[in-house]
Amino acid sequence: MEHGLDFLERSSEMHDGLAAGLSEAIADSARVLTAPAVLDRLSHDFYWYSPVLRPLLANKTADVAVRPTTVDELLAVLRYAGRHEVAVTVRGSGTGNYGQCVPLEGGIVLDLSLMDKLEEITTDGVAVCQPGLRLGVLETEARKQGWELRMYPSTLVKASVGGFLAGGSGGIGSVAYGGLRDFDNVRAFEVVTMEEEPRVVLHQGAAVHEILHAWGTNGVLTRIWFALAPAVGWTQFTAAFDTYEQAFRFTESVAVDAAWSKRLATVFEWPITSFFTPVKHLMRQDKSLSLIMIASTQCDALRDSALAAGGEVTFTGAYEGPRTQPLLSDYTWNHTTLWAMKADAAYTYLQCGFSPSECMEQFRLLRERYGYDILFHIEFMKNGDGVVIPGAIPVVRFTTEERLNEMIAFCRSIGVFVANPHVNYLEDGGRFRADNIQLLAKQRYDPRGLLNPGKMISFHKQVVNR
Ligand SMILES: Cc1cc2nc3c(=O)[nH]c(=O)nc-3n(C[C@H](O)[C@H](O)[C@H](O)COP(=O)(O)OP(=O)(O)OC[C@H]3O[C@@H](n4cnc5c(N)ncnc54)[C@H](O)[C@@H]3O)c2cc1C
Repeated sequence: MEHGLDFLERSSEMHDGLAAGLSEAIADSARVLTAPAVLDRLSHDFYWYSPVLRPLLANKTADVAVRPTTVDELLAVLRYAGRHEVAVTVRGSGTGNYGQCVPLEGGIVLDLSLMDKLEEITTDGVAVCQPGLRLGVLETEARKQGWELRMYPSTLVKASVGGFLAGGSGGIGSVAYGGLRDFDNVRAFEVVTMEEEPRVVLHQGAAVHEILHAWGTNGVLTRIWFALAPAVGWTQFTAAFDTYEQAFRFTESVAVDAAWSKRLATVFEWPITSFFTPVKHLMRQDKSLSLIMIASTQCDALRDSALAAGGEVTFTGAYEGPRTQPLLSDYTWNHTTLWAMKADAAYTYLQCGFSPSECMEQFRLLRERYGYDILFHIEFMKNGDGVVIPGAIPVVRFTTEERLNEMIAFCRSIGVFVANPHVNYLEDGGRFRADNIQLLAKQRYDPRGLLNPGKMISFHKQVVNR
């Protein structure tokens, strides 16, 4: 008991000391936050998606949170943290789903939600912005100027540009434009280092890959050049098919054929669509569903094609930006898992890539082994070689961590790529760079290992000579 009280006193001293120090670093001390409920909220994201991560991360909390509004304030915060060797975990909107922005070692949560300016959209379609800008705001503003996002996560409305670049990979639009790492989608950014004296460094071209998708472990993005696409008038389209194979084949034919202009090509097998209660009138009992965002000019042709493939068109409706109702992207990508978990808390998910030529056999082998404990949810996406492949976020019934790991191992044994979303460090998440350039950047920019510690496990702290 005495130990408990000692600890409480010590930790409250630490909070007070940190809060006082940070209050000097930024112009308004009201932007230094210490209320326990606020710290708890700002220390967590959607980590609870994973039944494996849930018990590991629930109690991890920062000692203090700070909301800078300028790069100078951010530099002052990092300088202070560096001098006192305090961990710093960057936060955009906190919609990551592997606990990417949960501070494993306490310290400071650097909340960038107030650094949210859209500076400009250049005449050749590049958005220049601060990291806290919400993707939904950018999509709306870009469409006013004849542009739109090339790709975005299904968390469009809430997620920030910086959080997407540092924690996400792709989403709606990736069927045409690939992921964040592909096709110069991210042109450049300025990144603030955690060196003895923090600096602002410009990364452009191939150098963006040193920092992209590194979960804020090797620098803080402060200014971003993000490529846009010419805006298209889109129609949301759904068609129901008697079998999963029919729905898959129809959607695949649209996804791989460049003559179709599409932003989304998704397949759900029954009963996944039974989880989508707000739009259940668009679903059909026992049938699989194809969900496509198609250029409105091609909607009639798509309807004819779906009918010829044996489908029933259950909905067509214009997409008019993030406020469209119903916004069918709310049921795609990782939102599908959310609806499944709402229906039955035992569901979780995997992130997979099936082989375009072997996928039917891979589906069969998985069904044979796991029955309906794995439900197929396909998101077609273009890879870096320009090939459209059946990416997948299957809904999986969770029993034990051992069984989940066995399922991952079995997927890999039959040639299905798996990015494991049930780990809390970059290396096993499936997107760590084999050429180690993120690790090399961390050694340069954060030699003391203060940025989001514990998330890049191949990094070892370096002794810094003072
Ligand atoms: C329902 C649901 C659906 C989702 N769908 C998708 C999807 O379709 N595609 C996809 O890619 N992801 C998806 N995600 C994951 C997540 O929503 C996105 O990746 C989102 O873009 C993260 O943005 P954020 O602002 O919430 O980032 P945060 O969660 O705040 O941060 C993500 C990571 O980036 C780091 N970070 C944040 N800002 C910066 C910065 N300025 N500099 C350096 N590091 C920084 C954080 O430390 C953290 O490690 C989904 C998640 C949920 C819960």
